[in-house]
Amino acid sequence: MLDVDLHSHSTHSDGMLTPSDLVQRAFGQGVKTFALTDHDELSGLAEARAQAESRGMKFIAGVEISVSWQDETLHIVGLNIDPQHPEIAKGLRTVRVGRHARAERIAADLERAGVEGALDGARRYARNPDLLSRTHFARYLVERGAVQDTQTAFKRYLTPGKPGYVKHQWAELAQAVRWITAAGGAAVIAHPGRYKLINRQREELLGAFRDLGGVGVEVVTGSHTADQYATWARYAQRYGLKASAGSDFHGPGESYLDLGKLPDLPYGVTPVWADF
Ligand code: AMP
Ligand code: MN
Ligand code: MN
Ligand code: MN
Repeated sequence: MLDVDLHSHSTHSDGMLTPSDLVQRAFGQGVKTFALTDHDELSGLAEARAQAESRGMKFIAGVEISVSWQDETLHIVGLNIDPQHPEIAKGLRTVRVGRHARAERIAADLERAGVEGALDGARRYARNPDLLSRTHFARYLVERGAVQDTQTAFKRYLTPGKPGYVKHQWAELAQAVRWITAAGGAAVIAHPGRYKLINRQREELLGAFRDLGGVGVEVVTGSHTADQYATWARYAQRYGLKASAGSDFHGPGESYLDLGKLPDLPYGVTPVWADF
């Protein structure tokens, strides 16, 4: 088991715990090196760092940036960034601004499908008014009784082809990598096994990402099966990328993997955190 967890969410994006509570839970589960990686947002990092350092943990400032690439939405995690760096702060602000209009379009789409009041409903679940995510809509759909759980909310409503899914233009891959790199961080492709990419696109993405200065890929994540750990360890080695590991924890009962429950990296890959 790893005592490292480099992907997690707090109430500053779509997680259920405050940064302090999240860090305390991680500490209780044996995590020693911890990164908070809220979606498109840095505002939780100071609180998380203070809590982690008071417990003697190593804290890594992180972020998970939403990116549009070839018709697919990708997530790029930035690790070990300087949250004060102006370029990343400014870039993420523009991404968050885009979420407002997107949320309105999601709500209008849901309304056409017979789900009323979704914008206000989702907002009630968003502690950070600047960061309305599909997760908040999913929680509202559960509250309304439209579906039994958030997984089903995504399956029936919030994914491509379903009412409540709208196309959106996020940051460009090159921008996300540049913001992270300029802030002194390492850019990592989050949960690569989750994207709908054919083999040729995977290779294209890995090559382009590496050429832009990308450093690693998540190999061990709550979104991967054990087979995918092996697949993405091989890709990492082939492309000279390092390997990252993170639960992608959002809250008790909402995530596949709890904090501090990650298996070791497959043999032969270089951990991205070796340099931190
Ligand atoms: P957004 O950035 O607003 O598009 O929301 C993306 C978030 O929705 C992800 O970070 C996950 O937390 C959550 N999510 C996406 N797909 C699913 C799914 N199939 N089941 C549960 N949660 C999901
Ligand atoms: Mn999320
Ligand atoms: Mn993600
Ligand atoms: Mn995540």
